[in-house]
Amino acid sequence: MSEMETKIICITCPVGCSLVVTHEDQKVIKVEGNQCRKGIEYAQNELRDPRRMVTTTVKVKGGLHPLVPVYTSAPIPKPLIFELIKKLRGVELEAPVKVGQAILKDFLGTGVDVLAARDLPQVGQKTSETGSG
Ligand code: SF4
Repeated sequence: MSEMETKIICITCPVGCSLVVTHEDQKVIKVEGNQCRKGIEYAQNELRDPRRMVTTTVKVKGGLHPLVPVYTSAPIPKPLIFELIKKLRGVELEAPVKVGQAILKDFLGTGVDVLAARDLPQVGQKTSETGSG
């Protein structure tokens, strides 16, 4: 098997180093352009099991707003992102929604949950946002 070079950006911290990864299939031979060790770890994970955090919104019935923002409790494998978005598109919650509420548990056995990122009260319900006077 021959060596290949792949260019990736390390997104572990805001520096965003441009990495040049020399590898044989999924085996990392050399990483260049990283300013710290985490870049090497990131390159290895990107080749073996790339994962991303997912943030999106889901529908809410009877809520102050029609959508509530949600996020994954941990990064999920990249190949499952489309499936997760598709699944969440079909979800409709009932207001009120509480911040941290599990919208989906252990998505496809990954151990990753999808959680509400904010409170969403029912229409007409008093909130700290609207004030109580
Ligand atoms: S290699 Fe280190 S310094 Fe560069 S983006 Fe990754 S974590 Fe940040």
